[in-house]
Amino acid sequence: MIVVMVQTATKAQISMVESRMLSLGMQVQHSFSGEQHLLIGSDGSPTLGQSLEAMPGVERVLWVRQPYKLVSRPVHPEGTVVWAAGRPIGGKALTIIAGPCSVENEAQIREAARIVQGAGGNFLRAGAYKPRSSPYSWQGLGEQGLALLQAVKQDTGLGIVTEVLDPRQIEKVSAVADILQVGARNMHNYELLKALGQVELPVLLKRGLAATVEEWLLAAEYLITAGNPNVILCERGIRTFETYTRNTLDLAAVAAVKNLSHLPVLVDPSHGTGKWQLITPLSRAAIAVGADGLLIEMHPQPEQALSDGEQSLAPDKYLALLEELKHIAAAVGRELP
Ligand code: PEP
Ligand code: MN
Repeated sequence: MIVVMVQTATKAQISMVESRMLSLGMQVQHSFSGEQHLLIGSDGSPTLGQSLEAMPGVERVLWVRQPYKLVSRPVHPEGTVVWAAGRPIGGKALTIIAGPCSVENEAQIREAARIVQGAGGNFLRAGAYKPRSSPYSWQGLGEQGLALLQAVKQDTGLGIVTEVLDPRQIEKVSAVADILQVGARNMHNYELLKALGQVELPVLLKRGLAATVEEWLLAAEYLITAGNPNVILCERGIRTFETYTRNTLDLAAVAAVKNLSHLPVLVDPSHGTGKWQLITPLSRAAIAVGADGLLIEMHPQPEQALSDGEQSLAPDKYLALLEELKHIAAAVGRELP
């Protein structure tokens, strides 16, 4: 259960509620929703909730049956809007994050940024540190890649989304990024999640390769309980018996998570399918199903990409997709940037 204290609750009132919860055998964690103090109890029952609700300083008690608490929809029934680089993620406006899989060189990232900016997009994605399945594959430019991202950020004003693989990289990646990406392979890296709970920058949490919806939401819960409420979820496909596509994009999970949680949910049809030909149809479907935006791999010359060229849109196809999405966005009461 979650006990929501009134904004003016005193320290004494909070500790009285905590003592009562402890005496009822619950483990208690503290968190915040804006200015309001929250006490999260490991279990409890509606009857216990009623007795807590009567205590001074308590606004309401939320009864959350699921193992995840703070990410659950009843905590913010209206849905959370996460802000990054002065732009909202969640709410009416859709978020489009586009760019190459990885930063390869200055000309490539500048050209990608020019296309994203020209199309009215507001976030550029590109990895400097790459989690590749094979140690023989291109591993990214590392710090040099971060420096190139910093330069295009300064020149274009685009927000930057880039991946952090390890707690030791958080400081240098945060100096450049507006959104820190946690990749699918790291969704279960709880030490990384706890470390990212200590920063204020929004975290884009990709769903693990074989993670259930519950595991994915519990990973988000790690970030929030560790202190960072700025969490954006991203469905990027899961492993199934199907091998025609790289992954199976689980759009049912997007609709489900929009019901279960108040967090914004983006869709990555590039990793979700592994095929550029499928990005446009799956992007249409993602917006129609209620996603808050898209994360798309777009490369100035996909055939020359050092990673994921086969699932990157060429610039002309990217621009055509955005045009098309305007109509679908309008039909579901959303807007493109
Ligand atoms: C990426 O976004 O380039 C990436 C590596 O994604 P994922 O973690 O979903 O595989
Ligand atoms: Mn990629």
